[in-house]
Amino acid sequence: MENIEKIYASLLEPKKIVITMHQKPDPDAMGSSLGLYHYLKKFGHDVTVISPTNWADFLKWMPECEQVIDFELNSQRAKDVLSKTDWLFCLDFNHLGRTRNMEQVIMELDCKKILIDHHREPQTEFFDFGISDISKSSTAEMVYDFIIASGGEEKIDRNIATSLYAGVMSDTGSFRFSSTTASVHMMVAKLKSFNIDHPKIHTAIYDNFLENRLRFIGHVLSNRLEVFYEHNTALISIPKADILKFHIKTGDTEGLVNYPLSIQGIEMAALLIDRDEERKWSFRSKETFDCNTFARTYFQGGGHYNAAGGGNKLSLEENVKNFKRALKEFSIQTTTIKK
Ligand code: 5GP
Ligand code: MN
Repeated sequence: MENIEKIYASLLEPKKIVITMHQKPDPDAMGSSLGLYHYLKKFGHDVTVISPTNWADFLKWMPECEQVIDFELNSQRAKDVLSKTDWLFCLDFNHLGRTRNMEQVIMELDCKKILIDHHREPQTEFFDFGISDISKSSTAEMVYDFIIASGGEEKIDRNIATSLYAGVMSDTGSFRFSSTTASVHMMVAKLKSFNIDHPKIHTAIYDNFLENRLRFIGHVLSNRLEVFYEHNTALISIPKADILKFHIKTGDTEGLVNYPLSIQGIEMAALLIDRDEERKWSFRSKETFDCNTFARTYFQGGGHYNAAGGGNKLSLEENVKNFKRALKEFSIQTTTIKK
């Protein structure tokens, strides 16, 4: 993978461009993709954003989100666009498996592939150009850096600023995590100068659910939470029946994994959800627990030090059993959990 700066000069020649992101996009995946979309359109490129799957309702307010193609819903249209593209930007994921059913299609494409991502151990051999930086708060911040470095500062507008703000706000836990550097705040100061409505963006993402979701959270915190004080860890495991009973849809479980971290002494929180096709894990930690290594070692996943995920086809019960075993092994192997 060559440095992304090699493409700056070619930005001036009109191209067909596709931007894609990880499945079930979060605000950073969608915000960085739409921020880049609005930027590239300003050069006169023919730009399309394709998501591998559907996305949460709380992302639908983002500027021109309605233009995004859902690969699962409109796969023929997505494949047609992909087959003609000159450039494919891959945002906010480190390996192609994160694009679910799009993976095979992407592998066979003959276009230039460009990575912008902040996850660990990216599949760099697959990309022609790109930038991978795990110290970055968000892919939105990396798109901002790309815009500035490619000489596009004067092209930033309210749509770009709004999309990127949503991404960086979400991936930094509203500017709380240690990844929130001085440069993040300087970028946000610049984005604010485009008159973005930051309280409205916060409300659109975090206060945009239906009553059933809050009742569901009440239910799972009362009935599905196990706390393992000896391991400074807590687990919420959610059976399929709960998902059906409370009519839970994409996005409704976002953020749920963080609740147990508010318990004194809890360093790591895990969330396990029984989805149709797999059992999906999320892991979050405060400072000292390496979620990425834990997810990689035991649950075929990965991510960042303080936020990772994984998934497999085993049953919910088997996953819970494996989790308990993994906790014991991991806490013996590592001194990272504070006692
Ligand atoms: P979330 O818990 O919000 O789904 O994901 C947390 C972090 O872990 C994100 O950075 C996400 O990209 C990463 N992640 C989530 N699921 C997986 C997975 O199955 N495999 C890998 N490699 N990373 C994941
Ligand atoms: Mn991200």
